[in-house]
Amino acid sequence: MNHFPIFVAVEGRRIVLSGGGDAALAKLRLILKTTAHVTVFAPTPAPEIEAWAVEGILRLVRRPMQPGDALCAALFYAADENENEDARTSAIARADGALVNIVDNLQDSQFITPAIVDRDPVTVAIGTEGAAPVLARAIKADLEAKLPATLGTLARIGKSFRKAADALPFGRPRRDFWADYYFNAGPAAISSGEEAVGPALDSLLVDHLSRKERPGHVAFVGAGPGDPELLTLKARKLLDEADVVIHDRLIAAPILELVRREATLLDAGKEGFGPSMSQSDINALMVEHAARGAQVVRLKSGDPTVFGRLDEEIDAVGEAGIGYTIVPGITAASAAVASIGQSLTKRERNSSVRFLTGHDMKGFADHDWAALARPGEVAAIYMGKKSARFIQGRLIMHGADRATPVTIVENASRPDQRILTTTLAHLAEDIAAAQLSGPALTFYGLAPRAAEAAMNETIKQELA
Ligand code: SAH
Repeated sequence: MNHFPIFVAVEGRRIVLSGGGDAALAKLRLILKTTAHVTVFAPTPAPEIEAWAVEGILRLVRRPMQPGDALCAALFYAADENENEDARTSAIARADGALVNIVDNLQDSQFITPAIVDRDPVTVAIGTEGAAPVLARAIKADLEAKLPATLGTLARIGKSFRKAADALPFGRPRRDFWADYYFNAGPAAISSGEEAVGPALDSLLVDHLSRKERPGHVAFVGAGPGDPELLTLKARKLLDEADVVIHDRLIAAPILELVRREATLLDAGKEGFGPSMSQSDINALMVEHAARGAQVVRLKSGDPTVFGRLDEEIDAVGEAGIGYTIVPGITAASAAVASIGQSLTKRERNSSVRFLTGHDMKGFADHDWAALARPGEVAAIYMGKKSARFIQGRLIMHGADRATPVTIVENASRPDQRILTTTLAHLAEDIAAAQLSGPALTFYGLAPRAAEAAMNETIKQELA
């Protein structure tokens, strides 16, 4: 982000513009929406500018700019559409202490003007740092269509009601009230006229004042494998409402971006079974916040019920007498298998699939290895990077075919996804050589569909 978006207070301050042609007009149409004092310097102003001057909504000075003309100005626009004149006027304005924008000259501008969706006092500013004006216009058109014209009115009336709404306790009760106003009661009332909004706010407040506060709660939410579009609608909603979000390290940054801005974001640091906050610390953290009435989201990668130590966390929350819900997510095996164009189960190949963790192999009984070593078996191995050699050894020892396909999907569903194809015989050396740094899921007994098709073709040719 080379440009940081902010909203500048311009009420009662000066905005100065040099220029009298089309570029000046385009900027003035925006600037005149503000409550700033606008001054235009133009020896030959367009008729519209003359008219605005006559109406008294801007001050027109019919001469080129001179030093001191932009004194005390908050912002300055160089809009003469002439390189030399723009350079001259912007130097004056800079010396006078104004922030400078030169029309169509990103390089020398100190700020840029975004595309604006105006539902005053609600304004949406869209910027692309000059990279894609077409995109900015498309987004603007989209928002113009989406945001009802009455939104500004609702916000204005809402603003005048803020003091009254302070009767509600700070935090969630107040937030719930406003959400109810903007998304339900407000739009319903305004459809029968602006004057219906005030009374609607009054009765909404009475209703909310009589409500009991929601008790603290913990939602164990699956964040999926990393692609934010693979979140469930429930997960999105909970992230939007959470007071506290306690997340594992594996949660991808674009998903954390979706957390409500005011929520407390806590990194529990768990990555597989790697270095982390201790399980009892995490339990204590959830309980502590929920006991204080917070809506806690315990955000876990993939599906919370798969290798997530979910039961320990549920026990802790349950013992503290705190309510909880579980929101399933897309587990890494589902995302990884999709990326290789295969199914986890397939008629006449495997009617069952095992989810194993490579981390704790000591608990995996010998007869399980024997079963897995039979032809056609499929397993999804989580946290299997370090234990690749052990798994390979056990399977071969129990008679598995060394040519059994093995596919490793690193960063499934993420932009940096990588697919590594190998066989049981070469699993350990290939995994080491690949130097995987992200989370990786190992499929035993599955090759990517394309590779499988190619292999079948070779076999057919050899047989022919
Ligand atoms: N509950 C999670 C698993 C947690 S254990 C789930 O349902 O997916 C952590 C392991 O999950 C990692 O070591 C890795 O094997 C796997 N994993 C998680 N996200 C992954 C991803 N995007 N790509 C590949 N494997 C992933």
